Amino acid sequence: MNWRTGSGTMSKPSDPYGDAGLEIVHPALEAILAEAARAASEEACGLLLGNDGRVTEARPTENVAQDKARHFEIDPVALIAAYRAERNGGPQLIGFYHSHPSGPAEPSATDREQAAGDRKVWAIAGQGVVRFWLDRPDGFEPLSYRLVEGESRPMHRLPAFLSTGDSASGPGLLGHG
Ligand SMILES: [Zn+2]
Repeated sequence: MNWRTGSGTMSKPSDPYGDAGLEIVHPALEAILAEAARAASEEACGLLLGNDGRVTEARPTENVAQDKARHFEIDPVALIAAYRAERNGGPQLIGFYHSHPSGPAEPSATDREQAAGDRKVWAIAGQGVVRFWLDRPDGFEPLSYRLVEGESRPMHRLPAFLSTGDSASGPGLLGHG
């Protein structure tokens, strides 16, 4: 399948995150940072699940790599389960996350070697931040993202302006607490 429409180098309509960018709910981003901190000197890894360009869950998986301090390998059982769930109408596997215990939040040489070029999103945590990358056939491309309010339980949604008494209100709404 060829999605190149000519000689243009601008973002193409087929680029899933070209215009709108990626969205991630706040709890999912927090989960990535928490897992990275918990794994400490080893690489944490997991799945990015969601729909329509919005990551609604960062699901931790076991790192089954031999050298966990320098590599990650997502537990294949968890990966297969996620693909199967997606086929059965569950959330979409948008991509993967992993952490760099002592490196920056950008693809390492190993990451570039292992990349499939399948347009999955890679979230990389390093040095206290998370950055997002699109695994394109011609290499990783930095991906802008937007942090959005997220309810972990879709059945229980409250508009943000009704939940000002909630200590879990979003970033920037309350200066202290
Ligand atoms: Zn890496």
